[in-house]
Amino acid sequence: MNLKKYTRNFNPDWNYQYSEKEFEDKYTYNGTDLGCTYSELNSQFKLWSPFAKEVIINLYESGDYKKDDLIESFNMNRGAYGTWYLDLSGDKKNLYYTYTVKFDGKYDGIYDAEICDPYARTCGVNGIRAMITDLKSTNPENWDKDSYPNDNLNPADYIIYELHTRDLSSLDCSGIKNKGKFLGLTEKNTTVYNKGIIKTGIDHILDLGVTHIHLLPIYDYATIDESKEYNSREYNWGYDPLNYNALEGSYSTNPNDGNIRIKEFKNTVKFLHDNGISVIMDVVYNHTYNEEFCFNRAVPGYFYRIDSDGNKSDGSRCGNDTASERSMVSKFIADSVEYWAKEYHIDGFRFDLVGLIDVDTINEIRKRVDKINPKIFLYGEGWDLETETTKEDIKLAKQGNIDLLDRFAMFNDDLRDSIKGSVFDEEEKGFISGNVKFANNLKKSISGFPKWSSSPVDVINYTSCHDNYTLFDKIRLCNPNISMDDAIKENLLAISIVMLSQGVPLLHAGEEILRTKTDSDGSYVSDSVRSDDSVNGIDYSKLEDEKYMEVYNYYKGLVKLRKKYNMFRIDNKTDAEKCISFKETGNDGVIEYHINRNGHEVITIFNATENDYELTDLNGYIVLAEDKSVNENGIRKSDRVENVKPKSTFVVYR
Ligand code: CA
Repeated sequence: MNLKKYTRNFNPDWNYQYSEKEFEDKYTYNGTDLGCTYSELNSQFKLWSPFAKEVIINLYESGDYKKDDLIESFNMNRGAYGTWYLDLSGDKKNLYYTYTVKFDGKYDGIYDAEICDPYARTCGVNGIRAMITDLKSTNPENWDKDSYPNDNLNPADYIIYELHTRDLSSLDCSGIKNKGKFLGLTEKNTTVYNKGIIKTGIDHILDLGVTHIHLLPIYDYATIDESKEYNSREYNWGYDPLNYNALEGSYSTNPNDGNIRIKEFKNTVKFLHDNGISVIMDVVYNHTYNEEFCFNRAVPGYFYRIDSDGNKSDGSRCGNDTASERSMVSKFIADSVEYWAKEYHIDGFRFDLVGLIDVDTINEIRKRVDKINPKIFLYGEGWDLETETTKEDIKLAKQGNIDLLDRFAMFNDDLRDSIKGSVFDEEEKGFISGNVKFANNLKKSISGFPKWSSSPVDVINYTSCHDNYTLFDKIRLCNPNISMDDAIKENLLAISIVMLSQGVPLLHAGEEILRTKTDSDGSYVSDSVRSDDSVNGIDYSKLEDEKYMEVYNYYKGLVKLRKKYNMFRIDNKTDAEKCISFKETGNDGVIEYHINRNGHEVITIFNATENDYELTDLNGYIVLAEDKSVNENGIRKSDRVENVKPKSTFVVYR
């Protein structure tokens, strides 16, 4: 095979050959030692770069790429299957390194490059230099005794809280010292301005009662300049991956020392586990920040999809699509997830735009994490996106292919949009605002079966997340004249549908205190990826207002209700089909949802109309939810006839 073919940038001929069997047979490396393997005696390096003419390791004193502190450079040896290797003897702990990959000079855009290690375990500031780290030395006390807190539960029992690390603590009212840092998640006994009794931060989350925290990206991403002081740093969600196997430096108290971020995050995981909270990581393998990504510089053009006309595939709308169907990309992704699961004891992974990733890669990940802990929870955005895979017959991990995946759940956009109207049309009203066209769709989702799922545990139910307008803002946008009180009623109706539906509920952090993202000019922000803390930070001080506290208590009540009654947590198709029914109400604005299980019965009414809805023959029931109250132990005994108030949820049990 003519190597020159492969060193021309973005030529569809060679780009397709990357995906051919001949190439994969010759260059697929299955070893587990890519990256740097450290011991006190030596450090072993391995990089996959089949077409480099020469690869050099550069050892540096510090992780600061602006410092001219090269210690020495060493030529690497050509190894099997396109790898390069070198063993450096002696203890190299805490030194930093890069690779220089040399091709035949500049050639159609391919040029020699000094790059970070794609398998870097940690980095210096801004992720330019990788660090040789002794991972054992980063473990917190009793790390070997750390255990997964919710292993006795099944996914229908989980309640997930989607949180950006910085938002938790960025506002002064949080009373948290480690603002915007991992360690902010470990501060107990914080209250609003540290005066009074209203809990903030992790105490607030523990009080709410969720089981899992899903953290927006915490791997090393590109757009924040870590060298700036915290107060002058930009804000970003982090969907711009730079180093997949290293942590983001801006969440550490010292981004200059690659060990500190590992120690602080492991401490955070340990702390959360000790407090009964499982940790889910948001992972973004479907695209990279840009094509300067170090893996792609080591093997030019290999990491991305390109169509038959030589155009880049861009289903991610982020400039590139990862070619997960190529053997060494697939391995890279699976290695990465396995590493986080093993090294950091991560309890679950949320895959961004997983509809761009092939089914085989996701199933390989399932297999790998099963060996660590079969309870590790996997889910993602299974949207059907336009992408050009580089092999024939590649099946992608989208909603329609969920049955090709083993224990992998997907976000339920049917439920989300049926509740509050489409996220792509800010004026469209949802069921809660009286748009009854959604009633039938909604019933399918409530029973755990949007059109693509075959079990309630395939389904992540939510009505808002970091993307798009917050729930409360969307309600007010599509009803410009709505009163505060009515907007709150619709919000409570929305969240009760999420929490009482079959599936796995996910809450957007702060929605329990009517989170809003409002710009200085008073307009609502749909995309707050670069907005500052005043837009994104969680404002716990709102809980000083009784109205907000009432909303918060309603959310908290729903969490308790869901936890107490397993009728809302059916985990299989057979039971769901047997136990759930809907009664004809004569009005599409009212859903009457019955669950009969193990001799018990729950009737739930979602009344989105402006009128009372009459329920009769309620002998011997107790009321669990009505108006703005929820109490899992019962509010009162039901009357024989009950009138469910407009815009409210009513739950009775016997
Ligand atoms: Ca970074």
